Amino acid sequence: MKTQLALPITKVQNSRLAETDFSNLVFGRTISDHMFVADYKDGAWSDMRIEPYAPLSLNPANATLHYGQSIFEGMKAYRNEDGKILVFRPDANWKRLNESADRMCMPEIPEEIFMEGLTQLIDLERAWVPTAKGASLYLRPFMFATDDYIGVKPSDTYKFIILTCPVGNYYSKPVSVKVETTFTRATEGGVGAAKTAGNYAASLYPARQAQKAGYDQLLWTDGKSHSKIEESGTMNVMFKISDKLITAPVNTGTILKGITRASVIQLAKDWNEPLEEKFLTVAELEAALIDGTLEEAFGTGTAATIAHIERINVNGKDYILPKKSEDAFSNRVLAELDGIKYGQLVDEHNWIITI
Ligand SMILES: *Cc1c(COP(=O)(O)O)cnc(C)c1O
Repeated sequence: MKTQLALPITKVQNSRLAETDFSNLVFGRTISDHMFVADYKDGAWSDMRIEPYAPLSLNPANATLHYGQSIFEGMKAYRNEDGKILVFRPDANWKRLNESADRMCMPEIPEEIFMEGLTQLIDLERAWVPTAKGASLYLRPFMFATDDYIGVKPSDTYKFIILTCPVGNYYSKPVSVKVETTFTRATEGGVGAAKTAGNYAASLYPARQAQKAGYDQLLWTDGKSHSKIEESGTMNVMFKISDKLITAPVNTGTILKGITRASVIQLAKDWNEPLEEKFLTVAELEAALIDGTLEEAFGTGTAATIAHIERINVNGKDYILPKKSEDAFSNRVLAELDGIKYGQLVDEHNWIITI
C-alpha cells in the first residue's frame, strides 16, 4: 500500500443514514453525511480534511457566482456481493478534472489528494453505498473559485470538494431525442470539452424547449454547420448502422471525453466489433432511419451507463427505432460494464479500484 495522506476527519454528531429512504432515491437529492474539502491558496493545496456535509459561507463577491470558474466530475461506487466497494476508473476522472482545470485557468489537483480524498471519504461513507441491484453511490468532485473580487480574472484561491449521493437504479426507459439544429452547445475553440458549469447553464434553455415538445434530450450538432451529430446533454452518443458502430471523435474540443464512451470503445475492440470514430451527419442519420439500416442508437454516460434511444426527431420528423434484441450490442455492453462495476465479471482492463 502507498502511504496514506493523513486526513483530519470530523464526524457528524447525528448521521442522517437511518432517516434516509433508500427505496425512494431521487438522483442528486440525497447527500451523504460527510464531504472531503481542500483549499487552494498561495499557490498550493492545503487544509485537506473530511468534515460534515454542511452549508458553506460565501461572500456575495465570490468570483464563481459572477464569472463561473467552476468544474466538476461524476463517477460511481458500487457494492459487490462481499460488501466491498468498487469504484470505476477514478483515475480517468482525475485526469479529466485536471484537463478541465487547465482550460478554465484553475489549478490542477495532485493525484494523491484526489485519490486519497475520494477513497477515504468512500471508506467513511461505506454504509451509504446502496445495496439494491443497480443502485450506487454517485461521487461528485468539484472545484470552484473563492476569491472575493468582482473583476474578470482567474481567481487566486479555490475550493475542491467531493460530495457523495446514494442513487437508485438508473435503468431509464428508452429515451426520445431531438436533433438540435438551431442552438449550439459548443464550438471549436470553446469550452465544450471541459466539464465546466457554464456548458450546462447554456444548455438548459434549448433542452427545456425540447422537453416542452415531448423529448427527453437533445442530440447536439456542431456549432458551425449544424450538420454533424456531436453528443447529448450529459452523454456521448453511438449509432449502429449496417453492423458498424459510429461515434463522434473527441479531438475537436467540442465534445466531452466520456469515460463510459472510452470503455465502450475498448470493449467493442475486445469483441472485434466494427467501430469507427467519425462524425455522422444529420443527413446520414436520417437516411439510415428511412432505409432501416440504423439498428441501434444509445447514449453513454456515468448516470445511466447506456441509455437506449427509441425515438429521434430529425428536421421536424419523428422516427421510431427498431426494437432491440437481447443480444444487441448496447445490451451486451451494458451487461458487461455492469458485471465489471459490480465485481461479477473479470476486470481485464484494471478499471476497478476496491475499497
Ligand atoms: C459527463 C458527460 C458525458 C459522459 O461522460 P462519462 O465520463 O461517461 O460520464 C458526456 N457528455 C457530457 C456533456 C458530459 O458532461
